[in-house]
Amino acid sequence: MAKELDLDWANLKFGYMPTDYNVRCYFRNGEWGEIEVSSSDTINMHMAATCLHYGQEAFEGLKAYRCKDGHIRVFRPEENAARLQSTCRGILMPELPTEKFVEMVKKVVLLNERFVPPYESGATLYVRPLLIGTSAQVGVHPATEYLFIIFVTPVGPYFKGGFATNNYVIARDHDRSAPLGTGIYKVGGNYAASLQANKWAHDQGYACEFYLDAKEKKYIDECGAANFFGIKNNTYVTPLSTSILPSITNKSLMQLAEDLGLKVERRQIPEEELETFEEAGACGTAAVISPIGEIDDPEIGKKYVIAKNGKPGPVSEKLYKKLIAIQYGEEPDTHNWVTIVK
Ligand SMILES: *Cc1c(COP(=O)(O)O)cnc(C)c1O
Repeated sequence: MAKELDLDWANLKFGYMPTDYNVRCYFRNGEWGEIEVSSSDTINMHMAATCLHYGQEAFEGLKAYRCKDGHIRVFRPEENAARLQSTCRGILMPELPTEKFVEMVKKVVLLNERFVPPYESGATLYVRPLLIGTSAQVGVHPATEYLFIIFVTPVGPYFKGGFATNNYVIARDHDRSAPLGTGIYKVGGNYAASLQANKWAHDQGYACEFYLDAKEKKYIDECGAANFFGIKNNTYVTPLSTSILPSITNKSLMQLAEDLGLKVERRQIPEEELETFEEAGACGTAAVISPIGEIDDPEIGKKYVIAKNGKPGPVSEKLYKKLIAIQYGEEPDTHNWVTIVK
């Protein structure tokens, strides 16, 4: 019998805490094997594995929610599976079937059920799938063997003091990804490329760095590890770009915005247009929506103050509440987004 957990759920950070089990699946001899359960949080691998040298590594991120009605839900895991498959095509790794991905997500959540934070603690169980090339290679070629792992770890609420605005800084001296590069794939390499800019932004007290398109430095790309959206004239506007990661949260918000009667535009957003937004936000699994207070561009001496009173806008708040309510099973799941794990 697993012991009951007595954790300080409300004060958990977004960090790693060991849990009971992870699930694994190996790709060998051209096929995926059986799902394995492990209680070890380390892996043993060849020092010449392609993930270590040539960045054959992909990851995903989603959350499991303990709900008011006693169920545990996960949000759109099929979308994470599809995005992982797209990443696999992008860096020549074998695609993991959607059914196997979803089965493993459910399995690892259930195996670690005692780590799913209580309803209303604000904390959630973060689910981290990871796919790596494990066979040895010295020349630049894709691996022949791969390991797919999903581990989970409980994480704290994103907004400790409630839904609040954050400030961002445009990192003109850095590019996260090239126009025809790997920005559309969820690979660790994009994060290595962002570490300098991320530190530069944090050192100046900003929540995160903000990227313009790498080619012209004219259009909005995304904010660190979250997509951007702006609201004006009853319209939800989000960038169309070949170098941003297709966020599942953003995709869901576009649908909800449409459901709420907003127009939705996906197009290039010139930097100067920031001046015209009534509201803006960064969106992703971690915070759902992190409302944007202000975006600074120190290299050209500009400041775009979006939240004039420093507070999140009404449309962002409405979208945020609506999406959370669906994730927690408190609003009808009209788009079939939710998977009940238990
Ligand atoms: C994961 C990620 C996002 C957010 O995607 P979600 O599916 O909404 O969590 C946005 N940008 C980048 C660069 C990411 O890696």
